Amino acid sequence: MTNAARVSILHKVLLHDAESNPLLERTELPRFADVKVAEHAEPAVTKRLEEGRVQLQKLEKHCSTELAKGRTIPYNELVPPLEELYEDVGGPMGSLSHLKSVKDSKELREVIMKLEPKMITFWQELSQSKPVYDAFVKLKADASFAKLSTAQKRIVNKEINDRRLSGVGLSGDKAKEFNELQQRQSELRTNFSNNVMDATGAWNHTVTDKKRVKGIPDRTLAMAAQKAQVQHPKATAADGPWMFTVDYVLVFPVLKFAEDRALRETMFHALATLASSGKHNNVPVIMELLEGRQRSAELLDYSCYADVSFASKMATRPQVHSLLDELQSSAKPAAKKDMEELEAFAKKKDNVTDLKHWDRVFYAEQMQKEKFGIDEEELRKYFALPTVLDGLFALSLQMFDAKVTPADGDAPRTAWDKEVKIYKVSSGDGKEVKGYMVLDLYARPGQKRAGAWANPMTTRRYLPGDKKLQRPVATISTNFPAPQKDTPSLVSLSEIHTLFHEFGHAIQHVLTRQNETAVSGLNGIEWDAVEISSQFMEYFISYDKDTLYSFAKHYKTGEPLPEKTYQSIKDSLNFREGTQMSMSLFLSKIDLRLHEKFDKNENINDIYMSLANEVLPSSPLPEDRKLCSFQHIFAGGYASGYYSYIWSEVLSADAFSAFEEDNVGLKDKHKMQETGHRYRDTFLSEGGGEEPAQVFKDFRGRAPSSKALLHYSNLEMSLLFF
Ligand code: ZN
Repeated sequence: MTNAARVSILHKVLLHDAESNPLLERTELPRFADVKVAEHAEPAVTKRLEEGRVQLQKLEKHCSTELAKGRTIPYNELVPPLEELYEDVGGPMGSLSHLKSVKDSKELREVIMKLEPKMITFWQELSQSKPVYDAFVKLKADASFAKLSTAQKRIVNKEINDRRLSGVGLSGDKAKEFNELQQRQSELRTNFSNNVMDATGAWNHTVTDKKRVKGIPDRTLAMAAQKAQVQHPKATAADGPWMFTVDYVLVFPVLKFAEDRALRETMFHALATLASSGKHNNVPVIMELLEGRQRSAELLDYSCYADVSFASKMATRPQVHSLLDELQSSAKPAAKKDMEELEAFAKKKDNVTDLKHWDRVFYAEQMQKEKFGIDEEELRKYFALPTVLDGLFALSLQMFDAKVTPADGDAPRTAWDKEVKIYKVSSGDGKEVKGYMVLDLYARPGQKRAGAWANPMTTRRYLPGDKKLQRPVATISTNFPAPQKDTPSLVSLSEIHTLFHEFGHAIQHVLTRQNETAVSGLNGIEWDAVEISSQFMEYFISYDKDTLYSFAKHYKTGEPLPEKTYQSIKDSLNFREGTQMSMSLFLSKIDLRLHEKFDKNENINDIYMSLANEVLPSSPLPEDRKLCSFQHIFAGGYASGYYSYIWSEVLSADAFSAFEEDNVGLKDKHKMQETGHRYRDTFLSEGGGEEPAQVFKDFRGRAPSSKALLHYSNLEMSLLFF
């Protein structure tokens, strides 16, 4: 073929692609770079909704006709068409939501707001479809059910359970009341988070005296000066004025580093009482939410909302309570000791004899520095992101025989930003491509939302029409510092934890061996088991010295991390573990208590205080109203499920302890690989296709125990809230 012919064919291909709507294409790696919101979003979503309705009607008709004849609809006539529906209808909106999280714009937000209610209505129609539900119930009672695979049985059970919890069994007034409650609950969740957001926006505190900001890092002062510029255009990081708000990025550095005690008090107080009075008061929102949840539970024939939540979890309520009580018996005495130690330290250092709530984080930070001598900024120089990635990928190859390499050329139009990198995950010999990972690691303020997350983009499944596998794709998004002119992105130790954590989610999605959407990769894994594979990866940073040293090299000199620093990091791992665990236990317990036996005549604040006194080493401030900003359970999906963090943590700690069992695991590379492969063939391969307790047993050969968690004790998440 001549070059001219080649160019002309290429030109035609490009022209054809540009004419089509990328949101309607079904490729493993979507063409995000070609999405034009104004042109593609609404037509794609509308088209798929229309087609979806026709498909659903067809399926319902088939179900009704067959059921009327007393026939059972076989699995293959029921599940595959539903899978098609989920993927077809959910696809374009899924892509738009993804774009909103990484490349937000006014245009995108508006179109999503317009289309979302239509999507919700469709999903309600689908989940409350009586003929489809009846077909599943009949299938489960049929002799053919026993012949299905474990994964297929789980899909049938999950369909029945999810549909029941969506109110399919209700009719008449009850159905009407249930649907209205669902609509109202969704509004209340939005109101709750809007109140938190608006109360945060409404409060600020400006400081003009330079003496008062002593100790606060320059980075934080720069942000505070920028905020102050609205009223004081000449504000600078060095000379102020500085405007402080209760945004996490500002309030935590102040509580941690500000030497001015009164400033800490002001900030602590604002945070503890956020959204608890005036026009952003969340107390009435919480009351109505709890009441509504209780009523919905009753309509579904459950005694309380906690039972609704536990109906789709791995753990049972009694198991969770006994775990939390067991951990509390170790954590509370340890937290009391932490408190005594902190009081003694503050007295010795600054002659503080009445350590207040707003002094705790500050002195804990000082004590940690004095005890272990770790300088976080210096430490970053040993962690250049490209080197850290090399180390992570080497671990993946060694442990899971999964080779991660740049996928140059495989996905020319997938990257939605020039910083996005696409990787191919193949078998160790490189012969079989298992799937892809799309990494978007640098912060893009104003475009990308805060935090870090890993999401499924495409799910592995067998395509009967094409007689081939659709390979899975996972995305990892983080907010790491972008590289500067001649300096690579330098990450902190906690950012490395974040990277390993999200990689754990992504690799579970990509290395699945399941072929049906509902249980493939991250899909179908119980809520309280989904963090196992992510938290598991983090242990390698803290407990596998070889892994850490594979990437801990000074970015300029290449010198390895000094042994002394390494020892300090090791020594500081369990710093104030009792305090951290107590806070996590308290949040888990208050969440359960409110959803287990809430009565509308109860005072939520009294419940909060009495439980705090039982679990925490000391009482909260009398005016503390942190329930009013507890978004996980009142705006997010954690209602009666906050314990999931601890539950997953127990399982991941116990899973990782398999590597240290006989004290040779991590040193003996052959043994490490053997255990790693077993982990891959159980946790990563089985995913949602098997009961999580059985997956654990397949890997560990026994049921989980909380011993390993107490041993490693790595509960950091509660710090985010308190
Ligand atoms: Zn996670």
